[in-house]
Amino acid sequence: MKAAIFTIGTEVVDGEIVNTNAAWLAHQLDHYGFSVTHHISTSDTESDMKEVLEWLVRKVDWVFVSGGLGPTSDDRTRNVVADVVGKKLVYSEEIWNQLGENYRARGFTVTEDHKQQCYFPENCTKLENPVGSALGFVSEIQDTRIIVLPGPPSELKGVFAHGVEPGIQALRLKKAKLVKWVCLGITESGAAEKVEEAIGGRNLEIGYRADIPYVHVKVWIPEDHADKPIIEAVNGVIGEFSVGTGTGDPGRVFAEALARLPDYRIRFSDLLSGGQLIARLGDLNVFDTHSAGFSNTSENGSLNEKSVLFSLGADDRESVRVNVRAGVRLGEHTTNEVLMDPPYTVDLSSPRTQRYYAEQALHAWARILREMNSASE
Ligand code: ATP
Ligand code: MG
Repeated sequence: MKAAIFTIGTEVVDGEIVNTNAAWLAHQLDHYGFSVTHHISTSDTESDMKEVLEWLVRKVDWVFVSGGLGPTSDDRTRNVVADVVGKKLVYSEEIWNQLGENYRARGFTVTEDHKQQCYFPENCTKLENPVGSALGFVSEIQDTRIIVLPGPPSELKGVFAHGVEPGIQALRLKKAKLVKWVCLGITESGAAEKVEEAIGGRNLEIGYRADIPYVHVKVWIPEDHADKPIIEAVNGVIGEFSVGTGTGDPGRVFAEALARLPDYRIRFSDLLSGGQLIARLGDLNVFDTHSAGFSNTSENGSLNEKSVLFSLGADDRESVRVNVRAGVRLGEHTTNEVLMDPPYTVDLSSPRTQRYYAEQALHAWARILREMNSASE
């Protein structure tokens, strides 16, 4: 089922406000199985709105519109939708009375301008607004539904949750299964070359995204395809670079592993990331659950059974080929891993390389903890 998101507002297109409605709606629709194929915004100019809406209803099954339902002269959405679906706007005395009560209850008075909010395209379904005054509505033209929602984000969410979500949930739309690989140590084009060679030409939708230092590879597998051979083929070419699947933050895996060591004294020694590790660990809320020591010199002091040292450092900072190690020391036991070089020139003073190794260290530490856990079981 194809859906488009049409966000209306001069402040949206001129950049004064960030279009959070589009992202929020897309996320909801994706969750309920729609294929969101278009995001479009226009200013409040009626002719532009009309042109875009006419085009969208030919393209998709559902158009979700936000904004322009207010009481002012720049709120023209209801007029445009009525025009496009070929209906007249009909005044509702009932809504006018409701609006009056609603305003009085909040200590405001309605003005003649608010009458504008009581007009709806003939035969539309009104959508109650549990959060504000502007009702949304649903109009149809041929096979396309137009869902019209208010612009203020809290009202958009309120109307959506109250009047739209139950209906789209009941559709139980099925769409292709998304499988995702999060890779480190390969460039976006490098990953694409390998993946295309492995599964290109099978008529699958494949997506790539660089989120430095990570590269995300996404493959959508339609219901009628067996997923196992496709996943195996992709694993065969990029498996060695893959540090995780799914949509979560790969650093979370380390944070979760750490949360399983609640009684340990945690220490970090970072000789390499230029402070990026400590910032990252802070974002992962690691210091909320552990009081941790942090140093940027190597730690040689003795550790007891209940302390664990995570270290990141290089054997030699001067040579071009360096060994970067991430280690975990638990009591007398030390485990070190040599980390893979990044897919760009190694320069240990470059923030990009430091960031790369900070991420590599998180993964290596998580892996070492996992291996220690399974060895002790
Ligand atoms: P109002 O009664 O406030 O005029 P409305 O339904 O007519 O509501 P708009 O005029 O389009 O909606 O927008 C009202 C406010 O909602 C904007 O000033 C802005 O703060 C917010 N808003 C509108 N569109 C978006 C959007 N796409 N993303 C985030 N916020 C938005
Ligand atoms: Mg408005």
